[in-house]
Amino acid sequence: MPAQADNSPRVDYEPDPRQQPVCIVGAGAAGLITAHVLLQDGFTDVQVLTRDAAVGGVWMDGRVYPGVQTNSVHNQFSFSAMPMVEDASGSRLTGLDVQHYMATFAARFLEGKIRFNREVVQIRREDEDWLVDVRSMIGGVAETLRYTRVVVCTGGCSNPRVPESLSPAAAVAAGFIGPIVHTQDFAARQKEILVATKPGQDALGVVIVGGRRSAQDLSAYLANQGRKVSMVFNGTDSVIASRRRMPDFIRKSRLLSLFSPHPELRTWLERFLHTTWLGSKLVAAFWSCLDSEAHVALKIPSDSPLHGPTTFWNVANDEDTPTPGSMRFHALVNAGKISLVAPAHVDGFASDGRSVVLDNGEVLAADAVVLATGYDSSWAGLFDEKTRKELGIERRSPPPHTIRYRWDYKSLENGPHTAADAEAPGPAFVRGLVPARNIFRRDFAVNGAVLTAHNAMSCEVSAHWISAYFLRDALLLPSTMEQALEHGERQAQWMRQRYPGLLNSLNESYSTMAAVWDGPQWIDGLLEDMGLPIMRSGGNWLTWPFKVVRVQEVATLKEERDAQRTQVRIAKGRGRSARMYSKKP
Ligand SMILES: Cc1cc2nc3c(=O)[nH]c(=O)nc-3n(C[C@H](O)[C@H](O)[C@H](O)COP(=O)(O)OP(=O)(O)OC[C@H]3O[C@@H](n4cnc5c(N)ncnc54)[C@H](O)[C@@H]3O)c2cc1C
Repeated sequence: MPAQADNSPRVDYEPDPRQQPVCIVGAGAAGLITAHVLLQDGFTDVQVLTRDAAVGGVWMDGRVYPGVQTNSVHNQFSFSAMPMVEDASGSRLTGLDVQHYMATFAARFLEGKIRFNREVVQIRREDEDWLVDVRSMIGGVAETLRYTRVVVCTGGCSNPRVPESLSPAAAVAAGFIGPIVHTQDFAARQKEILVATKPGQDALGVVIVGGRRSAQDLSAYLANQGRKVSMVFNGTDSVIASRRRMPDFIRKSRLLSLFSPHPELRTWLERFLHTTWLGSKLVAAFWSCLDSEAHVALKIPSDSPLHGPTTFWNVANDEDTPTPGSMRFHALVNAGKISLVAPAHVDGFASDGRSVVLDNGEVLAADAVVLATGYDSSWAGLFDEKTRKELGIERRSPPPHTIRYRWDYKSLENGPHTAADAEAPGPAFVRGLVPARNIFRRDFAVNGAVLTAHNAMSCEVSAHWISAYFLRDALLLPSTMEQALEHGERQAQWMRQRYPGLLNSLNESYSTMAAVWDGPQWIDGLLEDMGLPIMRSGGNWLTWPFKVVRVQEVATLKEERDAQRTQVRIAKGRGRSARMYSKKP
């Protein structure tokens, strides 16, 4: 990042940010850890608003659908202040484990800090404050709350995307009589779906629209309930799986991350892997082996539409090690219990009221339709026009043809051919956390909009970064707004080059940055900004790539930041520069 240490002096008469009210919108993983870190840092007036009746967001009680497991083993979705349930089998956590964890975390650390059933309908600025319009989900009472700072943690998967042609209104218009449910509401409406789709010869079955993770989970669940299931999709995720369980020093270490390039290559090993001919061949072989192993482990034939895109360039589902006799998605497909209709797109409901029409003209009978159609931005409508513009929190136009940034990595040659350069970049953010246009006001941030497999750890370190930013601690920040915008542009260009096509498939609230496989390097960047030690997993020059990355590595960030603040004060008192560290631009 073109950056320099923030040496702007804290003026004594400035009010202490800790005494000023902070609003956190959202009580999912990102909201909970942000609130916890700010409270630990001494912020006295922290309020979390959520439109839900419980904490957890995606993992909320009543939202976790049957069979969902976390999609990655990394950091097991826990924060450093509280261990996750022991993962005895070594496989992935269930959605219920995560839900229980989030509820326990909130009860232990955030009692009285969360206001439930409060939907934020608009955030706008008035003078130096934020006005937050809130509507009660029970009774609809409206109120306007005033805060000095806002952290938006509304998630990239909280506003279901329902195509108009498959909306309940379209169903009524076509006379479709079965239930239509988005995956987000599946848990709540599970009984209704099961009743409407009885097993048996006469059953029409369920049409699942979409081919990614939730579509696969719910296809498997319904097939296991004896329902006839057709999954209609155009594209699917890559997949990771192995016949034998990989040891932690491979599966949970930095190894996978090192084989994924990052905008900054900090070590000789990364430079070797990504910038030399030999290294790039090793990288290609590594990912190719992973793909082949997954296809063998899950018995995916080469002509199957589930033979997804190459993992290196994509987001992948982690299927771990299939247990013999398991009735999970791929096994059910192979057993003929789930029909794959691909490539195809559901265009809408047929006029007979009992089926849907595909783009190839085919008609599929359905007792019910499950929409695994993804999510829209949770920021849509959250800000008035003026605030949106001021923050620059909207998707930008595709860049002109001259691409200003290009990473000359050998490992990034021969990527998939897409119209990547025409992809509209997400909003320009610094470190995926602060809108570039607002960088110097230090009163607004976002947590949870960075796509990474190291989700919980990334949110925790991001929360420290945000707190340091609010507190005006020493932090590497761009020194002008132009630099901040350039930084945002550079990140967007990285996303286009590293994951071609991804930006087009992500909504704004999940697209400030992607560090899918390179989460540890991403987290190191945040630590570097704060002037804290990086690459914390330990080991010596030979063993460090194999050391398991654990969230406990960041358990002492508060103490480290406190100590650093004291040092800065002493240095300032002695008339020395407060610049604690330097970084190449
Ligand atoms: C089924 C499913 C499985 C997933 N599995 C994984 C996985 O295994 N690994 C992984 O890394 N990621 C996974 N994800 C992505 C997931 O979104 C993130 O991992 C993470 O849980 C998101 O946390 P969050 O706090 O950012 O957002 P969320 O959990 O979505 O929380 C958003 C919060 O914001 C609140 N909110 C939203 N809008 C408003 C508003 N206007 N007013 C008030 N409150 C509002 C919601 O009520 C909620 O409390 C999964 C997503 C889904 C849908």
